[in-house]
Amino acid sequence: MLALRARRLFDGQEMRHDQVVIVEDGRVTGITTEVPATVDLGDATLLPGLIDCHVHLAFDASRDVVAMLEPPGLADRMRQAARQHLAAGVTTVRDLGDRDYLALGLDLGLDGPEILSAGPPITTPRGHCWFLGGEAAGEHGVREAVRERAARGVHVIKMMVTGGEMTPGTHSHLLQYGLAELRAAADEAHAHGLPITGHVHCAEGIAHVLDAGFDSIEHCSFFTEDSYAVDHAMIARLAAADVVVSLTAGVAPGPAPLPPRIQQRMAGMREALRAVQAAGVDFVIGTDAGIGPPKPHGVLPYGAEMLVEHGYAPLDVLRAITSGAARVCRVGERKGRIAPGFDADLLAVAGDPLSDITALRRPLAVYRMGRRAASLSG
Ligand SMILES: [Zn+2]
Repeated sequence: MLALRARRLFDGQEMRHDQVVIVEDGRVTGITTEVPATVDLGDATLLPGLIDCHVHLAFDASRDVVAMLEPPGLADRMRQAARQHLAAGVTTVRDLGDRDYLALGLDLGLDGPEILSAGPPITTPRGHCWFLGGEAAGEHGVREAVRERAARGVHVIKMMVTGGEMTPGTHSHLLQYGLAELRAAADEAHAHGLPITGHVHCAEGIAHVLDAGFDSIEHCSFFTEDSYAVDHAMIARLAAADVVVSLTAGVAPGPAPLPPRIQQRMAGMREALRAVQAAGVDFVIGTDAGIGPPKPHGVLPYGAEMLVEHGYAPLDVLRAITSGAARVCRVGERKGRIAPGFDADLLAVAGDPLSDITALRRPLAVYRMGRRAASLSG
């Protein structure tokens, strides 16, 4: 039995004080003040392990991630990426685009985070990220693609609704699929009991996935052909809808600059972030870890920091990257909270993240199913 005490305990919903968390056989079995601690973490905060809703373990955060997709060694590089998440306190990741379903079979046990996976994202022929192997067209074609993924045992369906920045010949401000195809994919996913999320970079795409009944929206950005135009009416619609926006927050400091087309649109992206908060849109964070040098694996704490800098309440951000993310990833009955019966995926950080969100960058200990993870650097 492990009895963990820290000055503060964020249980996935609220901040509590001076509690002892009892862990047995990999699960939390109690929260009490009655039992002496076997491990006292001192002036620290114990939280549920963090959940990053959008990563790409197959991308290695280098300058040319597509070139690095080739075997041999890809699975090993993906394992290394997964371990980087765990070392940062991210105990569950949702991989929204791998190649050959590699992420789905990449079980590191307790040496890595729990990996939920979409397999290759569904995209149009030569569409965004076609090189991951998920090309499908037409209502029949996308239904077939969803069925294949369901048979493989994926945890979520990912669809490239618009083009994207990293794929030449595709355009972030243009739709790849029509409404009929999006509806067919959502209908098929739901028939298999799977959530469906859409990669969307323009307002028209956001309207389409809302109409099609998608469960969540990745990026949710407002690209136009040569600029960025935040659609406040659309953000009001998002707030009223039963949908969760996965904000692509989090940039690690370093010499690598953001791509020019992103830099040019950064002011607009910041405006959108603030507007999403002001409107009360339901959100989680999906960092897109792996897609380039500013997005190393384990970057999620920087995403939390970015949101707080844009006016989000720290408590809302902590909920979003724990219990909120668990709900979106459909693991809310066992992840994202510290409560009896929940998996003992835990993160201890120095200080208090409610008063200083950068505390998330200072992990003291990470537990995966009750077992303390070795730090990467140590
Ligand atoms: Zn992505």
